[in-house]
Order: sequence, then C-alpha cells, then structure tokens
Amino acid sequence: MLVSLKEILKDCECHKYAVGSFNTPTLETLRAVIHAAEGLGAPVVLNHAENEEEVIPIEVIAPLMTEYAKNAKVPVAVHIDHGETFPYLMKAVRLGFTSIMYDCSNLPHGQNMEKVKRFVELVHPLGISVEAEIGAMPNNMAGCANGHEKSDLSNLEKYFTDPEEAADFAKQTGVDALAVSFGTVHGSYEGEPKLDIERVERIKALMPEGTALVMHGGSGTGKEQTRAAVTAGIRKINYFTAMDTAPAPVLFEVIKRAGGEPVHYGRLARLAMEVMEEKVKEAMEIFLNSR
Ligand SMILES: [Zn+2]
Repeated sequence: MLVSLKEILKDCECHKYAVGSFNTPTLETLRAVIHAAEGLGAPVVLNHAENEEEVIPIEVIAPLMTEYAKNAKVPVAVHIDHGETFPYLMKAVRLGFTSIMYDCSNLPHGQNMEKVKRFVELVHPLGISVEAEIGAMPNNMAGCANGHEKSDLSNLEKYFTDPEEAADFAKQTGVDALAVSFGTVHGSYEGEPKLDIERVERIKALMPEGTALVMHGGSGTGKEQTRAAVTAGIRKINYFTAMDTAPAPVLFEVIKRAGGEPVHYGRLARLAMEVMEEKVKEAMEIFLNSR
C-alpha cells in the first residue's frame, strides 16, 4: 500500500528499526525492491533522484513506482532523493510522490532552515512528508547525489552534523526526517568507514518527537556499524551503490560463458533482478535490527 514516509517512520520508531530506502530507476530494480520487502514483510521506501533523469525521466518511472507501491503487500513510500530544484519538486507532487527530500544543505545554515521551513508548510497539508539534510554528505565519486563533485575525504569530521544545530533545525522546520552526517559517504568507500555512533546518540537525544534520523551512504558501512547506527537511533537508511553494481559481474559471466552466441536481454534483466533482490534483502535484514 502507498503511504507517506511519516507513517513508516512512526512504525520504525515504535519497533526501533530503520526502513531501507532504495533508488529504483529501472523496472528490474523496482521489482527487486518490492519483492524483497514483501518477502521480509517490512515497509520500504522507493527513491527517485533528480540526477537519475538521464537514466529514466520522472514522468516515466513515477507511475510505475506509485502503482507498484499501491499494489504491494507492505507499506511503501515513494520518495524524491536529494531534490534541489523547486519546479522539479512540484512535478513530483503532481506525480503522486508521498515524500520529498528537499536538500538545501549546500546553503548556509540559516538559508537551509528558512527554505525547508517554507517547503514543509507548503506540502504537509498535502500529506507529503519532508526530509532535509544538515551537515554535508561527502561524495566518494563524481556524479552521485545530483552530480556533485568528488569531495575531499581527508578529514570527514568537517562534514559532521552538530547535534544542537540539528535539534534546532528540526524544531524550527518541522521536518519528518533529517539526514545527518557522521562518517558515511555517498558511493563506495576507500577502506573501512568509521562512523561516529556517539554523535548519532547525542543528536537522537536532542531530536523533537516526530523527526527521524536518516543515514545516507549505506553501501559498505558493514553489518556491525550499521546495526550500531540503528541502535543509536537511525530510522531510515539510503542504500543504492552496492545493490546497483551487484548484477554486472554476474551478467558478465553469463555473456562470457555464451562464447559469442546470442544472449537474450530478457534473461539478463531477470537475472539482474534476482541478484538485486538478494542484495536488498541482505541489507534490509541488517536495517531491521531484529525488529
Ligand atoms: Zn544521499
């Protein structure tokens, strides 16, 4: 069933787990995520990001996302990830998205707060949930999170979210979800990531009721640290790179084994879907944190 993100986050807080949030720019990804969530009997979030327009335009994928969400046996929110352009977000509202991330984290704190506050006032009456970001999520590769440049990763702490600032931001804006920075990066990791779990605990302790904490960059943070982040209060985890890069090596083997004979694309697409479903299941089981 299609629901708002807020509704899912309420359940997450009640049962102390994090909902998985997955980008679904292809039909195979979309079906893989829905199958995995139904298999586990857990709610899920389907994402579309502005920078995926070159893979598939929002007008094409949105009706599929909302249709799959409506027909799913579990609660599903349809969410815009890292939305930055106002007209694009209005298009998402028209297309039936039930949740929008309005990412103004590249602006000075005051401006970020002001813009998000106005956006919340605008879409909350429509039943649409809002996620914002405070602190900055660094990128480990150019092109991810709306095509921003690769970040300087020599000192991740300079991107970290300040707990007091986060609490004030949540109170002033009334956002339903807040992405915080504590050691994760977008894309894949160079070496073992080190998450500042204590920071999550401090932010969580100051958060007003009704604002859930979000972790971006969930690919490659490892089972133990991810579990610790959920235990500390993370309620939504964005996960994409590990899922989206999983099918290629498997498909490559199939093509290689065919030894130059024709390979049907339908078979490859189906196989890609199965590989991604397994990846999503594996991730969601960690996020559920023995719910
Ligand atoms: Zn992100």
